[in-house]
Amino acid sequence: MPESTAANSETLFERAQSSLPGGVSRNTLLHGEHPLYVSHSAGCRVVDVDGVERIDFANNMASLIHGHAYGPIVDAVSEQLRRGTAFTMATEAEIRMAETLRGRTTSFEKIRFVNSGTEAVMTGIKAARAFTGRTRVAKIEGCYHGSYDYAEMSQAPAPANWGNADHPNTVPLAQGTPPSVVEETIILPFNDPENAIAILNENADQIACVLMDPIPHRVGMLAASSESVQALRTWTHENGALLMFDEVISFRNEFGGMQARFDFDPDLTSLGKIIGGGFPIGALAGRSDVMDVFVKGEHGMRLPHSGTFSGNPISITAGNVALDEFDKAAVERLNTLGDYARAQVATAIHNADVPACVTGSGSLLRVHLKPEPPRNYRESYLSAPESAALNALIEALYDNGIMMIHTCTTALSTAMTPVEIDRLADAMEQSLIAVREQLLSCA
Ligand code: PMP
Repeated sequence: MPESTAANSETLFERAQSSLPGGVSRNTLLHGEHPLYVSHSAGCRVVDVDGVERIDFANNMASLIHGHAYGPIVDAVSEQLRRGTAFTMATEAEIRMAETLRGRTTSFEKIRFVNSGTEAVMTGIKAARAFTGRTRVAKIEGCYHGSYDYAEMSQAPAPANWGNADHPNTVPLAQGTPPSVVEETIILPFNDPENAIAILNENADQIACVLMDPIPHRVGMLAASSESVQALRTWTHENGALLMFDEVISFRNEFGGMQARFDFDPDLTSLGKIIGGGFPIGALAGRSDVMDVFVKGEHGMRLPHSGTFSGNPISITAGNVALDEFDKAAVERLNTLGDYARAQVATAIHNADVPACVTGSGSLLRVHLKPEPPRNYRESYLSAPESAALNALIEALYDNGIMMIHTCTTALSTAMTPVEIDRLADAMEQSLIAVREQLLSCA
């Protein structure tokens, strides 16, 4: 089959419908009438097959910390490609990457590499079960943790099924989810320690782990309060459960991940995205005694674990370079750029005179079509007209040369400078003005 024929995004999408369900391999690419098909990229710019160049603020769902085709990664990976891509053998490079990660935060005593954030979260939940001998998992309403059954409960509940805000329902994402999964998953309200602890107390001796994201994207890119995280830390300590941070996205926000902002450690952390330098990766990091579930001991092997491409030398080689180059100074520079971006986008919103606001922290930013920053998933939730307005805004941004994550979120890369941020702010103002009437009619 030829690699490409009549190369335009519309015809490629038509062709894709016959072979790929919905025409894609992942739904996040769907926006407008058809997804865009990529031709090439460099740094923070991507050109599609239709010849249009855009600044990429999506960075493959926040995974490309150094942007596209980053020279040092291309060189290191090219060299490794010539030496081999995957072996039924271990590599020194994976030891080095584990050492690098251990050096960045105290809670990473031992690390196991997997292939995606989904797998990291799944492996963490299974490790918590194997360690505690319990089966239930508690997670926060609206948080995205990938597609393991338990982790995706109440990822996207709606007003018709989400129940009482103080005691949310456990809402399956996919049709056909076994009722036993619903039964085993406990949903906690975000930044509401009092109600969260009351719910946990109802299940006190059954919870293997409490899973939380310190700045959950889908909840609204809102930081978890120290008070609420401290409450979960204390409760898990006192009740024999583990606290697991999902830092698949948030790790980028501090040299040692967002957990560095708290004065206590989680027991386990799931990682992914930026640590793979643009290649598929995930990792589970945590306390040595918990990570010993992967090791044969007096109780046998409590959690047998493998994976054909786990720790493969391509992802690890790219990840080693990505992490080396994302040192303390780079993290700080990017976070300063993030502060500038949030301020510039807030000005754009003000100038466009629309009911919108901006949230986020570090190198992450999200625009909400709400006059005030939401405080939780329910307040971030978009009605059907608001959702249509957000889609129109994202299309207008694409037309103005800016690529965003479909929730109107940006994840900056080190390839960016204030010049690109100013372009983002200009495009945001123009795009908000273009959809202003539609936005106002939602209010
Ligand atoms: N956890 C979080 C916080 C995520 O943002 C994501 C991906 N968006 C995942 C887990 C799943 O990662 P992956 O797509 O690599 O499976």
